[in-house]
Amino acid sequence: MEQAAEVVEVTAKGWAAMEPTTILSPYAYTLRDVGSEDVLLKVICCGICHSDIHFTKNDIGLTTYPLVPGHEVVGEVVKVGFNVSKFNVGDLVGIGFLCGSCQECYLCKSDREQYCDNRIFTCLGKYPDGKPAHGGFSSAMVLDHRLLARIPKGMKAEQAAPLLCAGVTAYSALINLGLNKPGLRGGILGLGGIGHMGVIIAKAMGHHVTVLSSSDKKKQEALDDLGADVFIVTSDTTQMLESANSLDYILDTLPVVHSLDPHLNLLKADGKLIMLGVINTPLQFLTVPLFTKRISIVGSFMGSTKEMEELLNFFQEKGLASKLEMVKMNELNTAFERLQKNDVRYRFVVDVAGSNPDS
Ligand code: NAP
Ligand code: ZN
Ligand code: ZN
Repeated sequence: MEQAAEVVEVTAKGWAAMEPTTILSPYAYTLRDVGSEDVLLKVICCGICHSDIHFTKNDIGLTTYPLVPGHEVVGEVVKVGFNVSKFNVGDLVGIGFLCGSCQECYLCKSDREQYCDNRIFTCLGKYPDGKPAHGGFSSAMVLDHRLLARIPKGMKAEQAAPLLCAGVTAYSALINLGLNKPGLRGGILGLGGIGHMGVIIAKAMGHHVTVLSSSDKKKQEALDDLGADVFIVTSDTTQMLESANSLDYILDTLPVVHSLDPHLNLLKADGKLIMLGVINTPLQFLTVPLFTKRISIVGSFMGSTKEMEELLNFFQEKGLASKLEMVKMNELNTAFERLQKNDVRYRFVVDVAGSNPDS
């Protein structure tokens, strides 16, 4: 029998955008009640994804204000609902950009809940009670436990955070598009949050990895620290032409409008251009390389809860680590500014629990 939700008002202290800008300021709000399938989470840390910039600026038209961004959230369970048996108080868990789905459709039943018609997005969505699904730049959240991933024992919270959106987006694309095979030659277009995860994951899958970047600023780090095999500056037309027909796939992570043709030229026959970036302007490309090389242009959207747990365990077992920079909550605006200027190696993670909630 369903037990009524226990009504205990919890106030969360977060940082919110009040209008379409990237400026956030302290914002207190009441959380929804902890329902039978929910847990109350004390947020420990939260990564800053480029999508948070798109959301605060309302780039895709889905934002309502105030908006508390943040969807690479790691926290500690402090209370569990009546039907929750998977998690206990004290467990470390994570949530990405999906905080609700119907749990009943064929997509939810086959671990593809991120494509469910009745999904709720962290930061952008609303719960059935009308309360906004505010994100992780906040002291606390109430979350449906069925979308939570267990953080493996011994993994640091800040290391887990970037896996929950950036990491699983790269991982899910490679897994579901038939690219989890050693020996493939992959390209990573844009060496940011998703891009650096893409390099680490593709190398761990045994791929030969080419980074395609807008400048040579990240070249040495990409080759020496991340283990990429080749680094190409995309404006170097000679190198781009010399590398024609050499790649099985490209993970395209660019968040800005760009020409697809030079990248289609890099793909072999049957290659895949995998579009991951949010671009709110139509893109153009020539059709000829598509049919003469049977190339697919395809998209992929974050990853399922199962894939998040798989990836967390994959990192733990293989001893992999993302490259990140920790910031406090009151440094969020500087971090947002720096992320827009492509000035981060390679993910900011906000130390939510270690920040003063009132400033
Ligand atoms: P990010 O950390 O900002 O990385 C983007 C990279 O693109 C930069 O590091 C930069 O790499 C390159 N770039 C080239 N021109 C740029 C410009 N004008 N402004 C900014 N970057 C530029 O972003 P991210 O968090 O990886 O996210 C990338 C995109 O994927 C965003 O649009 C985000 O919203 C989207 N996203 C999609 C999914 C999904 O499920 N499909 C999930 C998460 C995020 P170089 O220095 O190497 O040129
Ligand atoms: Zn994201
Ligand atoms: Zn569903």
